[in-house]
Amino acid sequence: MKICVIGAGFFGLHVANQIHKRFKKCEIQILEANSSAFKGASSNNQCRLHMGFHYPRSGYTVYQSILGFDRFLKDYSAACNSVASNLYAINKNGYVTAEKYFAVMDSFHLDYKHIDTPKIFKKKSDIEAVIEAPEQWVDLDMLKKILIKNFKGSISLNISVSDIDPEYGKVFVDGKLYGEYDFVVNATYSNPNLGASEKFFDLKYELAALVNCETDLSADTAVTIMDGPFVSIYPSSVSTHTLSSVIHTPFMKSKSQKIIDENIDNIKTIAKNLDVKRNIFNHVNEFINVKISNDQLWLAPKVKLASDHGDSRVTEVKREGKLMAVLCGKLDAAFSASDDLLREISIDT
Ligand SMILES: Cc1cc2nc3c(=O)[nH]c(=O)nc-3n(C[C@H](O)[C@H](O)[C@H](O)COP(=O)(O)OP(=O)(O)OC[C@H]3O[C@@H](n4cnc5c(N)ncnc54)[C@H](O)[C@@H]3O)c2cc1C
Repeated sequence: MKICVIGAGFFGLHVANQIHKRFKKCEIQILEANSSAFKGASSNNQCRLHMGFHYPRSGYTVYQSILGFDRFLKDYSAACNSVASNLYAINKNGYVTAEKYFAVMDSFHLDYKHIDTPKIFKKKSDIEAVIEAPEQWVDLDMLKKILIKNFKGSISLNISVSDIDPEYGKVFVDGKLYGEYDFVVNATYSNPNLGASEKFFDLKYELAALVNCETDLSADTAVTIMDGPFVSIYPSSVSTHTLSSVIHTPFMKSKSQKIIDENIDNIKTIAKNLDVKRNIFNHVNEFINVKISNDQLWLAPKVKLASDHGDSRVTEVKREGKLMAVLCGKLDAAFSASDDLLREISIDT
């Protein structure tokens, strides 16, 4: 059996390794548009291994996170790090009250600890409650190393797939036939509708930014203000954190894929011209006492379901003939998506 995976991000490599575990004789080829693996959202994200605390308005996302958390820890333990003081603060001006927030978390039997509001928060009177939640941060470089080490197929870089024929499993590059496969897995994240006769997913698209920097916080501390137009700070290595802002992290938004196709090559310049770094930092500083240094922007495209108004980040798999496409909303949900893909392949082989 010959399978082509398009995209060498976390999900493309994860699914390739899961396929190989199950179908040892399968020949897997990954095609990657970039000059190396892990250049997209997989190395430019907030590094949070979610357990569900971030999604009080989407019970299904909480459910997927709970299911995925333990499996991620088991397979990628070397990349996972605990966050001793992982603070979630419920702001009075948000979309959910503390009562509703805890009702949702308790309905999933999530474990957390109430604490007094620490000094790190500005506008303390706006904070209704603070908890410590037992989530982890993911070392993205380590994650990449594990995935590459375990990968048994071939990766062809600088190959941008232009089309896919779902009926015959044909893959085209620059309009010319590149190869024919038993299955094609679209793991491009930013273009999951490529090749589908009818759109698999109705999406909205963003160019997104995080500030990755050194701070005066320890690597054991994370701060997230819920649930609305607020900010968070999360460890990204033993000496750095990312800063994100619900308002300024998505610095360009559209319902059209064109926003990514037309701007991705100039993403750095666009972010610089819009002063995205300063906007994120100023927003974080409205709510949190933190000093930063050695800052740099992490930039990536991001996609969400167009129908999402409850901040859901579900992961789904769609299929047409030999083509399967994944919308991988979060790292923890990769296992539920790869299970779905393996099921489809098993049925047909
Ligand atoms: C700002 C931000 C913060 C986030 N924070 C978190 C978080 O804290 N926790 C969490 O769990 N998730 C988070 N996510 C989501 C997470 O990063 C993604 O779910 C995950 O990285 C998706 O992995 P992927 O492999 O599907 O995508 P990518 O890593 O983007 O990989 C897709 C690959 O496909 C390649 N590609 C695209 N088009 C083509 C083509 N036509 N031909 C060939 N190759 C192509 C790209 O070059 C890229 O390498 C965040 C995302 C963003 C953007």
